[in-house]
Amino acid sequence: MSRWYIIILPKKLGWSFLILCCCLILLAWNQAQPLVLFTLGLASSDIIYDIMLDPGHGGIDPGAIGQGDLYEKYYVLDIVLQMEKILTAKGLKVGLTRDHDRDVSHLVDEGTRHRRDLLGRFKLMNQARVGISIHANATKDPKESGAIVFYQEGNYLDRIYAQIVLEELERVQVLNERRVIPRTTLLLLKAKPPVLLVEVGFMSNPADLAKLGDPQFRTSVAQALSAGILNFISWRSGEQSEPNP
Ligand SMILES: [Zn+2]
Repeated sequence: MSRWYIIILPKKLGWSFLILCCCLILLAWNQAQPLVLFTLGLASSDIIYDIMLDPGHGGIDPGAIGQGDLYEKYYVLDIVLQMEKILTAKGLKVGLTRDHDRDVSHLVDEGTRHRRDLLGRFKLMNQARVGISIHANATKDPKESGAIVFYQEGNYLDRIYAQIVLEELERVQVLNERRVIPRTTLLLLKAKPPVLLVEVGFMSNPADLAKLGDPQFRTSVAQALSAGILNFISWRSGEQSEPNP
């Protein structure tokens, strides 16, 4: 049986109590974002896929725009659809955040379209053992070119994953820098599984843009990224298995 108590506070103590409540509410408000992410993680705690592939942008969001009205969203989708075929043929259960020209903001109720889209992708990443988000970059300097592999700073496993993927990627595309790049501000990299964000080239660089427009180049990028993912998965399963007596 439950009992209810009525607490009558002295007037002075009542004010202190009220201020304490306000502080707690403010604290909770500041903590709201990690809490939302945590809840999204919990809500999707069941792992459904071996790998989640995320072609950046889509729908109303074209991503980077290259000279001649060329949109990042189409190139990265084509690369990801080819990766899906390669990885599925290797026996992996492959999930895609999108498989046609749309965003994924419909998966989350709260926030701006951009925020809902990002949280939707984050939610899907948590349903896989490994994730990768594919993009093409743009900057004001047209000389800037090459691929970049971003990983979550301070995460040892993610760094190894990034290095393995970079090794394969540099067989088919020049690198922006000859190293993997740590980041602390990219939401997708904070998902539970190891997740990378790969920029396959610069839409603002004429040579990279010409490459991205070449279906053969996109196929070779899809093959290289898939090889990197497969290498990481086999390295990881070797790490986690018992050594032979
Ligand atoms: Zn992008």
